[in-house]
Amino acid sequence: MKVTATVDRLRREGVEVIDFGAGEPDFATPAPIKAAAHAAIDQDFSKYTPVPGIAELRRAVCDRYRLDYGVEYKESEVIVSAGGKQALYNTALTLFNPGDEVITHAPHWPTLAEQVKLADATPVLVRTSPEDGFAIRSRTILDAVTSRTRGIIINSPCNPTGALISEDDLAVIAQEAARRGIWVIIDLCYEKLIYEATPHNLPAVLNRYCRDLAVICGSASKAYAMTGWRCGWTLAPAPVVAAENAIQSHTTSNVSSITQKAVLTALTGSQAAVKAMLDEYRTRRDTLHQWLTADPRVRCRKPAGAFYLFPDIREAMSAGGFRTSTEFAQSLLDEARVAVTPGEAFDAPGFLRISYATSMESLREGSRRLLEFVARRALQPQGAGQVF
Ligand code: PMP
Repeated sequence: MKVTATVDRLRREGVEVIDFGAGEPDFATPAPIKAAAHAAIDQDFSKYTPVPGIAELRRAVCDRYRLDYGVEYKESEVIVSAGGKQALYNTALTLFNPGDEVITHAPHWPTLAEQVKLADATPVLVRTSPEDGFAIRSRTILDAVTSRTRGIIINSPCNPTGALISEDDLAVIAQEAARRGIWVIIDLCYEKLIYEATPHNLPAVLNRYCRDLAVICGSASKAYAMTGWRCGWTLAPAPVVAAENAIQSHTTSNVSSITQKAVLTALTGSQAAVKAMLDEYRTRRDTLHQWLTADPRVRCRKPAGAFYLFPDIREAMSAGGFRTSTEFAQSLLDEARVAVTPGEAFDAPGFLRISYATSMESLREGSRRLLEFVARRALQPQGAGQVF
């Protein structure tokens, strides 16, 4: 969001910037979804709704997860919130207390750890490694379990790495969690953005091994290009949903009534737009990956999911005399007018997050500028010869 604000400011000042910072789809919300919102306004669907969302929408969430994953949830086990962010926040406030430890994996979307802190609990970060494709391994997670562990949060597909957890790894975690009474929360906000046919039925795995301790958080934001509409959801055992309902009723109440009608159409209507967007992201991913890896100083795997490349730029940094990826990103913006998010934002110094939720023309021009910047800096490293 900070990168986006800087880009907005520069553009207002008349500076032409290529923006690789976006954490949201560049597509418009599909037309039938917008039409449903127009209809809701015209029909004066403008009053408070039940706090956890209108019954049709909660049913639609259950139906969607039954269709997609074969899992059974009742309406009393669903609450609709203002984005996956509020769904995860309600979950943290509901489940965690001072002294509790909550394990999650880094590089990570920092909100997950910050929300644990807002619940006065302690985030415990375990590291996934670039050599291993940032795979989220059960061993790494379970090695961090102590007698104080109260929860494990898994984000798959992961922002920023694009990595997935395998069903087998999640099964091992779920079985151990069931044995020890630890909550397992999965952040599935990028669930519709998986490029190859990979087994990723995480809801079914949790239902099989630890249904009473499983919390599934999802969102309309990325799947349906609806970030601004603010709608996400939690599927969890009824007592957890009841507690989240109590928290939400005293904070924000229901999600906008208009948004709820729009998301109802998103979840129940044709999913063709989701597939079309995924196909376009895949083409961009493959093309951008090919362009950027033309320079061996930019080392990068193809992400399995989400819409980010997460290149290792340590070689380019040292060739160019940069101490941090933040410094690199700042110079890239100042000199080449390309905005990226530095790895430090995700607890991953030495990396950059490059969003390909932008047009092919921008990807072409931005990657050209980025590679030119890397090559130029390698020829004239600033600060070369200094000892850091
Ligand atoms: N989880 C992850 C991993 C995210 O990256 C984001 C947004 N960037 C969210 C959840 C929440 O998104 P929203 O609140 O728009 O659903």
